[in-house]
Amino acid sequence: MNRSDMLHRVQEQTGSGDSWDIVVIGGGATGLGVAVDAAARGYRVALFESSDFGKGTSSRSTKLIHGGVRYLQQGNVPLVMEALRERGILRTNAPHLVWDLPFVVPNYQWWEAPFYGIGMRVYDVLAGRYGFGRSQNLSVAETIDRLPTIETGGLRGGVVYHDGQFDDARLLVHMAMTAWEQGAVILNYCPVVNVTKSGDGFVDGVIVRDVESNQEIRVRSRVVINATGAWTDSVRDLDQKGASPVIRPSQGVHIVLDRSFLPGSSAIMVPKTDDDRVLFAIPWHDRVLVGTTDTPVDTVVSEPRPRDEEVAFLLRHAARYLARDPSADDVLSVFAGIRPLVSDVDDADTAGVSREHAIRISDSGLISIAGGKWTTYRKMAKDAVSAAQALGDLEDAGCPTRHLRLHGYHANADRFGRLSVFGADAPEIEKLMRSGPGMGEPIHPRLDLTPAEIVWGCREEMARTLDDMLARRSRSLILDARAAIEAAPRVAAVMADELGFDGTWVTSQVSAFVAIARGYVWPPEA
Ligand SMILES: Cc1cc2nc3c(=O)[nH]c(=O)nc-3n(C[C@H](O)[C@H](O)[C@H](O)COP(=O)(O)OP(=O)(O)OC[C@H]3O[C@@H](n4cnc5c(N)ncnc54)[C@H](O)[C@@H]3O)c2cc1C
Repeated sequence: MNRSDMLHRVQEQTGSGDSWDIVVIGGGATGLGVAVDAAARGYRVALFESSDFGKGTSSRSTKLIHGGVRYLQQGNVPLVMEALRERGILRTNAPHLVWDLPFVVPNYQWWEAPFYGIGMRVYDVLAGRYGFGRSQNLSVAETIDRLPTIETGGLRGGVVYHDGQFDDARLLVHMAMTAWEQGAVILNYCPVVNVTKSGDGFVDGVIVRDVESNQEIRVRSRVVINATGAWTDSVRDLDQKGASPVIRPSQGVHIVLDRSFLPGSSAIMVPKTDDDRVLFAIPWHDRVLVGTTDTPVDTVVSEPRPRDEEVAFLLRHAARYLARDPSADDVLSVFAGIRPLVSDVDDADTAGVSREHAIRISDSGLISIAGGKWTTYRKMAKDAVSAAQALGDLEDAGCPTRHLRLHGYHANADRFGRLSVFGADAPEIEKLMRSGPGMGEPIHPRLDLTPAEIVWGCREEMARTLDDMLARRSRSLILDARAAIEAAPRVAAVMADELGFDGTWVTSQVSAFVAIARGYVWPPEA
């Protein structure tokens, strides 16, 4: 994937006066899912992302491809079944990026073993042939065997069940590459600044601004799909001033701890927090993620900041279940994301708002798709493209994504060790690692990132800024924020070399990145 080529294709299409079939606004899970689906159906597709792919919510998830035990507790069986089915499909199409993770619900009360044991059995049954592994009750010894650092005072045993885990930003990059391989044009750093209409008042395209050249381009399209997540209402407003809001934004925060807090290969699922939700402690890329919170917010920003009380909540709950209580000084990184929940009701509690997705078509024909979750992105995309097909009177084409392998597909990617998430691309990165002195050496003692991956990210994955590289092409920022800050000058130098930028670029990128990364350091520095 090359950004200049993509831009050139957009300019050419505009120059020829030709129309795209579908323009997608937003490069998160929803938008890229739509681009993959639409391109695979054979439509001419262009996607525009205002920042980087996943800069919004999609790189800030709990990294679970799951049916949602919580929705089972709420009795939303259709949602759980749909998500379990999608979970199975995604693991089949991207086995290098979605893997099975055992979750243990530790039991401290007599009633928990039968209660959660039966609940998880129902979860297994709902998964049917898409099941990942059977749940079972555990004795105290078996629970400690799986969770060596679990709080043992009063422990009566546990229940283990299985769900999916993934690397969200990497899946997104591979979805972008899949869409491109299917013929779509995918542009980051290209916000849609306006929606255009034909004489009869119907949406007939958008105006985008290329951030790198500051040039505006008029892009014609038969259908425009708004997939901007938490920003859905701002694009609806471009279409119709004062359009009624559909998004109820809610912030979720995670803290990241050293792996010694939760060694072993199982996660902990806390079924009931003080605010009646579920909470996870999950091994991920040799760290432990603890999350998440659910706090309604009024404003949507691209770098949401965790609140003191959210981090305190996570530390307090982690301490209840871990033998060694983590303190604020143990937090390697903290990150926040905004859920784009869809709601018409005026309910103060966003934890109760539906996680289902919704499609709205405005009077002028702008299709907005929002809500849902990462796990169900393929189904969301299918519904949105089918709506576009009908609205734009596009040629009939069935949805082929049920069996579409995603970029990087590899049935046995484990053999690539920590490069397994690159799937079939891993051998190319290994080759780069051998291509020169130091190319395979970690750039920082606490980070796995090597110059080879940085070069790969710039050359093949459209990384344009230091933040792209440290937050999403690699996950350095959320694995260890202080280490990412320390590594920033070296990483920027390798990027500048590859992308042909000078020392001024390096200086400005480092200072922009450090300003972002400080928001991930906990406790916050003065
Ligand atoms: C804390 C948290 C944990 C979660 N955990 C999970 C989980 O474990 N599993 C799961 O299945 N789901 C999870 N979710 C839900 C899931 O992450 C979201 O549903 C999903 O990422 C939303 O994707 P999206 O594409 O709709 O939004 P986004 O990822 O936010 O993408 C929208 C994009 O639109 C872009 N944009 C905005 N305006 C414009 C414009 N004018 N022009 C161009 N681009 C624009 C933004 O920059 C953004 O990148 C979690 C959510 C949160 C907040």
